Amino acid sequence: MTESTQGIAPEAITILNTPVHSVSMNQTLHLVHRYMTEPGLHQIATTNPEFVMRAQHDDHFRQVLQEADLCIADGVGLILAAHWLGTPLPERVPGSELVYKLAEMAAQEKWRIFLLGAGPGVADKAAAIFQSMYPQLKIAGTYAGSPDPSENELITQLIKNSRADILFVAYGAPNQDKWIARNRETLPTVRLAIGVGGSLDFVTGKTTRAPSWIQNLGLEWLYRLLQEPWRWRRMLALPHFAIKVLLTPRS
Ligand code: UDP
Repeated sequence: MTESTQGIAPEAITILNTPVHSVSMNQTLHLVHRYMTEPGLHQIATTNPEFVMRAQHDDHFRQVLQEADLCIADGVGLILAAHWLGTPLPERVPGSELVYKLAEMAAQEKWRIFLLGAGPGVADKAAAIFQSMYPQLKIAGTYAGSPDPSENELITQLIKNSRADILFVAYGAPNQDKWIARNRETLPTVRLAIGVGGSLDFVTGKTTRAPSWIQNLGLEWLYRLLQEPWRWRRMLALPHFAIKVLLTPRS
């Protein structure tokens, strides 16, 4: 794919039967521009090895990822796996960096952003931070709520009334991605919806990202584990992922 994307669908590779698109951060931003001019809701997933392992036994989640418009490689494990499998990806595209770039673009283009999910007060605080960084930004609304289907109607009505163009959903995977897929047809103004995981927690400083030298060593996952040790069980997905990839025939 060229840097301008030129209306062509991005190429996807598959890692353990799960799609990951071969795009850089710049290409992702070009695609976002295109999505915003096309009708319908476009879904972006911030795929990491935990997503891939979940998709091995959760058919619905795998289908959601397969039907998403764009699955960016958010996780060094995917970059290493793609290289090992002989289908290298251009670079890591972290959702936690993309949210700032989307907020900046939205401020320039007058796109309205709605922040859904995260813990009590987090979406409001993140909205205020984005607003102070990008004063032209229009925040369409914020709501913590829950991904439980019982709240679906209330939340979709809120978003509809807000006339949001872009939706950040912070319910963690797979719930955030399933939530978006379930509501694709019920949010007529939204052109782009992205599952942002813990990104709003990073924005507000509730949790912090690893220093860049730790990121460069590919050890951001370890930093996160030390900061949030309750993640250890979920993070067992990482060694399982590595073993499964190493056992996969290379192309
Ligand atoms: N979260 C939420 N409601 C839920 C589950 C999670 O608002 O029912 C929020 C949580 O507060 C956090 C975000 O979802 O802000 C991402 O969760 P997690 O850190 O588990 O996701 P990851 O970044 O690992 O995908």
